[in-house]
Amino acid sequence: MSRILAAAAAHAIRYLGTLPSRPVAATASIAELRQRLRKPLPENGMDGEAVIDELVRDSEGGIMGSASGRFFGWVIGGTLPAALAADWLTSTWDQNAASNLTAPAEAVVEEVCGEWLKDLLGIPRSASFAFVTGCQMAHTTALAAARHRLLRDRGWNVEKSGLAGAPRLTVLATESRHESMMRSVRLLGIGTEAIRYVPIDARGRMEIGGLEEALRRAGAGPTIVWLQAGDLNTGIFDPFEQACRLARAAKAWVHIDGAFGLWAAASPRYRHLLHGAEAADSWATDGHKWLNLPFDCGLAFAAHPLAHRAAFAQDTSYSIPREELRNQKDWNPEWSRRGRGFPAYTAIRALGRSGIAAIVERCCAQADRLVKGIGALPGAEIIAAPTINQGLVRFLSKDGDHDRTTDAVIRRIQAKGVAWFGGATWRGMRVMRVSVCNWQTTDHDIDATLASIAEILAPAAPGAAAD
Ligand SMILES: *Cc1c(COP(=O)(O)O)cnc(C)c1O
Repeated sequence: MSRILAAAAAHAIRYLGTLPSRPVAATASIAELRQRLRKPLPENGMDGEAVIDELVRDSEGGIMGSASGRFFGWVIGGTLPAALAADWLTSTWDQNAASNLTAPAEAVVEEVCGEWLKDLLGIPRSASFAFVTGCQMAHTTALAAARHRLLRDRGWNVEKSGLAGAPRLTVLATESRHESMMRSVRLLGIGTEAIRYVPIDARGRMEIGGLEEALRRAGAGPTIVWLQAGDLNTGIFDPFEQACRLARAAKAWVHIDGAFGLWAAASPRYRHLLHGAEAADSWATDGHKWLNLPFDCGLAFAAHPLAHRAAFAQDTSYSIPREELRNQKDWNPEWSRRGRGFPAYTAIRALGRSGIAAIVERCCAQADRLVKGIGALPGAEIIAAPTINQGLVRFLSKDGDHDRTTDAVIRRIQAKGVAWFGGATWRGMRVMRVSVCNWQTTDHDIDATLASIAEILAPAAPGAAAD
């Protein structure tokens, strides 16, 4: 046992040591990876240490440097050393975090983290919570609580009777919502046809007049208002105070997607962006983004613990809860699962409130520098300056085909390997997304990234801006 673990630890430490100097993009093609990894199903086993060595060797070039400080694609985040170490222990202890009987320490750790997180994120102390796989499942968990409560108020028990014949739910959102909303609505049987889009204002926030009108149209029907704390592209925040007031008057449920943006609450500098968000009915965020935990940590919170528990609790004869302690599966969609509270607990202790605020503020300042720095290069244009840690730029072409040039420049940046950005279509145009949410991004990383993009855009580079 200790031989295999020591080998794996040595591989891990070596990988992390070379991360800053490796190309950020994966360099091996899928065909190459298939050729190396696709071995015949073994009839007989082999030594575990040799399997680990071969796995590392065969995956070479196929590991995306998304844990690196120069990865600015999607919204991903890295892993704090203490959180990674706790994640190793989580696998080692191999607790089944379903209940406080099977995982007593994890149950207490989740209980403690729940309190800490509500405090950090500005969520009312009375809210319930769940540790799930990611923000997608956090939405699904929160909306299951919403579905329960909105239908129960209309005399319908959705857990017992299902949705067939139930009053139709309506979801009010803006077009800039994250795609994960669609899947939650699909999974819960609400259906995408239930979505009504509310217009946005010039800054991309939900327009209050539009919401008022949409709520009036939805009438007395069960309605969910979907707001965003940190839009994926521009990082904007919806007007929570006004939206929650209107929704409350209409007896609608307000859900906030704060996958990364909810963490702005941890910073005295950016907390104001969440003004009024505490009046929502549910909130979803990620630990594996801005808190820099390893993957597998989404967080759902509900202002109505009874509705939340009613959507999930299931008492069985073989797992009768010890009543003095929260039983995790009563709040989660999963039964067996890993003890994802341990890495969260460890990260929060290792950083403290001030350390979390420092990561948020540093990432925001770096995103600002990156977007402004790119925008100042010849042939580049700022499309959205960051509100927090997300921004958009694009690259212009002399022949007017800016979309093609933007995609071509993104490909060249990725191929150069110094940094990694992804493309997106935003309001009908191709853009490059800039996202900074890694604890280890340094000012030097920003300088090196800007220098690399400047080289690509330099008129001397063959075909650069004219591509
Ligand atoms: C990442 C993200 C999600 C989905 O989160 P997962 O953890 O990938 O499930 C939802 N909403 C927003 C705004 C996001 O950035």
